[in-house]
Formats: sequence, C-alpha cells, structure tokens
Amino acid sequence: MKHSFEIAVFEGDGIGPEIIAPTVDILRRMAAASNTYSLTFTNAPAGAAHYRETGESLPETSMAVARRADAILLSAMGLPSVRYADGTEISPQIDLRKALVLFAGVRPVTVRSGQFTPLKLPEGREIDFVLIRESTEGLFYTQGRGEVTRDEARETLLITRDISEKLFRFAFALARARKEARRGPGRVTCVDKANVFRAFAFFREIFDAEAARHPDLIADHAYVDATALWMVQKPWEFDVLVTENMFGDILSDLGAGLMGGLGLAPSADIGLDHALFQPCHGSAPDIAGKGVANPLAMILSAAMMLDWLGLRHDNPAMVSDAARLRSAADQVVADRRVLTRDLGGTASTDEVARAVLDALFVA
Ligand code: NAD
Repeated sequence: MKHSFEIAVFEGDGIGPEIIAPTVDILRRMAAASNTYSLTFTNAPAGAAHYRETGESLPETSMAVARRADAILLSAMGLPSVRYADGTEISPQIDLRKALVLFAGVRPVTVRSGQFTPLKLPEGREIDFVLIRESTEGLFYTQGRGEVTRDEARETLLITRDISEKLFRFAFALARARKEARRGPGRVTCVDKANVFRAFAFFREIFDAEAARHPDLIADHAYVDATALWMVQKPWEFDVLVTENMFGDILSDLGAGLMGGLGLAPSADIGLDHALFQPCHGSAPDIAGKGVANPLAMILSAAMMLDWLGLRHDNPAMVSDAARLRSAADQVVADRRVLTRDLGGTASTDEVARAVLDALFVA
C-alpha cells in the first residue's frame, strides 16, 4: 500500500514562486514513479505580497493547512518594501517556526571533493557538518517586543530549559545517526558565549546534562566568535554544531558561503510534530521575475523533506529517493555546465531544474 502525504506549499514572495514551481514538479514526477508513496500539494497563501493585498501576512486558513499537512515546503518570504507599522518586515516563516514549535533549524554544510568552495581545502578534505540553529526563542524571542525610546533601545533574549532540552536531545540523536551512517565521529559542539552571558552559561549547563546521557558520543563547547574563525580555518573538523537562534542565523550564512553561496544552502525547521523545509536564502527581490534564480537550495530542501518523511514513516524508498535527488543536484553542480548566474553560469531557473530532472530520470 502507498503512503499518502499532504504537503503544504508556501510559495512566498520575490523569487519564491519561481523556485518552488519546478521543485514541486520534480517531487510530483518522483512520486508518480514511486510505488510506495504519493504526494498531494496544497497551496497556503502568506507573505509580504499577501499582506499588501489583504492586510494579513499569515491567514488562519494557511496556518490550518500547515498544521494539517504531513510536511511544509516554503520558498522565501518578505520584501524590504513591505513593513508593519513598527518598521519591521513581514516574516511569516518566523511566525510559523514559533507557532508550530519548530525548534531545530537544521542547516547542513557540505562541500564534496571537486565541488566549489572559496576555501582552499587541503588535499582529500571534504566539508560535511550540520549546524543546528534553535529557531523559536533566543534573541528572536524579542521580535515585536523591543522597546525604543529617543535615547535607548532594548531587546530581550530568552532561553528556556524546555526548548533547550528538546534541542540538545535532537542534536545528539542527529550525531548518533550521522555516526551510524559513517558521516561523522559522533560529536556535538555547543556554540555559545558562556564566558560573558549568564543565559549562555544556563544553555551550556543544560547541554552538559544532556551530554551525560550519551557517553558513546563526544560533547564539546566552543565560543561563537572562535567558531566563526574555525568555520573558515578548519571546517572539516566539525560534525554537529548546536547554537542559539541569532548566532545560528549568522553562522548559517557563513556555512552557505563555504558552499559557494546561498543558492546551494538548504534547511529544515523541525519540531516534535511538524517540519518545514526551505532554502536558507530570502526572496531575492533584486532578481525576482527574471527567471534566473537558482532553484538548487529549494530542491535540496525538498530532498531533506523526503528524507524526513521517509525516516518518520519508515519508508526506505522515500529515504533513497531523497538521496537520489540530492545526488542529482550535486551532479548538476559538479558538471558545471548548467548553472545560474550566482554560481558563474548563464542558465535559467527552469534549465537548472530540467538538468536535475535529466540527472534523475535520464542519466
Ligand atoms: P536574500 O537571500 O534574498 O538575497 C541576498 C543575495 O543573494 C541577493 O543578491 C540575491 O539576489 C542572492 N540570492 C538569494 N537567493 C538566491 C537564489 N536562489 N539564486 C540566486 N541568487 C540568490 O537576502 P536579502 O536581500 O537580505 O533579503 C531579501 C528579502 O528576503 C527580505 O525581505 C528578507 O527579510 C527576506 N528573507 C527571507 C528569508 C526567509 O524567508 N527565510 C530569509 C532571509 C531573508
């Protein structure tokens, strides 16, 4: 019997609709060729353009689609020109993370041998680590709550025991899975600033308590500033990094830079009951409407979705389709023949998506 999954699709703003359409097309074709799963897609309007038209950034009907769906696929949301009255941007992707308690922001950083990276890697070295960014609290807790007077501005950082315990449990489980798959030594590094802030000493204490439950895995600590340095100097030494929301926000763009740019950086926001998959980049209004956006980060995020659904529902064929999709995208990057402008090519969004399809079904 086929597993049937409903996917909520947030097309979003800017380049969002341009990169999500070919991604959904690829997923439809993969599902059509599978005899173990089927996918249905339900559109969920939200975002800056939707807010401009209707006064609502994340309608309750779209929220209901997200809650009901087996997984959520989201492109990018927000436009610098569309703002709430307090001057902040429309960002339903952040509201979704909070509402669905998607505490683990999973940002894989991989550079296989032969793939582009601005670093000069020592012979035989590859980069393969995962940054986990807590995605519901930390400094982002303060969003919409900041206080600004003529002379002062204040924002508040929140770290809770409950979310931190869930986050660290997730990080150690991921390190164990990677160790079993021979992708890492089974090491989790807690990235913080515990030397200066009490909140991070608290964060670290909770990490250490979770680490004590996993004597078969390695647990260590690093300060966030040193981590930024080491991500450039020796990124091949990392396995699983786990950190607060704002630190993770910044470090994950550095991770995308190691892979040659945002156009190749996928992500997942995972909770206990829901998961959302989206590229790390934003809506790129500077290139929207031109058909030149790189769809690969979106396609790699869709591969993460297949993997998560397959593992959660014990469907190995789906997990293997996830790997096939990932390697089809990797192959397009390694070939260097059909690439968008951000990666030095001249191809359109649709040409890159077509090259992925060819690598999947023709090669
Ligand atoms: P951005 O990621 O949209 O763009 C940064 C640069 O990278 C731009 O030059 C852009 O053209 C390029 N770029 C991004 N994605 C690309 C792709 N797929 N292919 C080719 N080039 C790509 O960041 P920004 O300009 O700071 O933000 C634009 C809007 O997106 C803002 O409104 C911001 O709030 C929003 N945003 C949303 C998310 C999200 O939905 N998760 C994340 C970041 C920013």
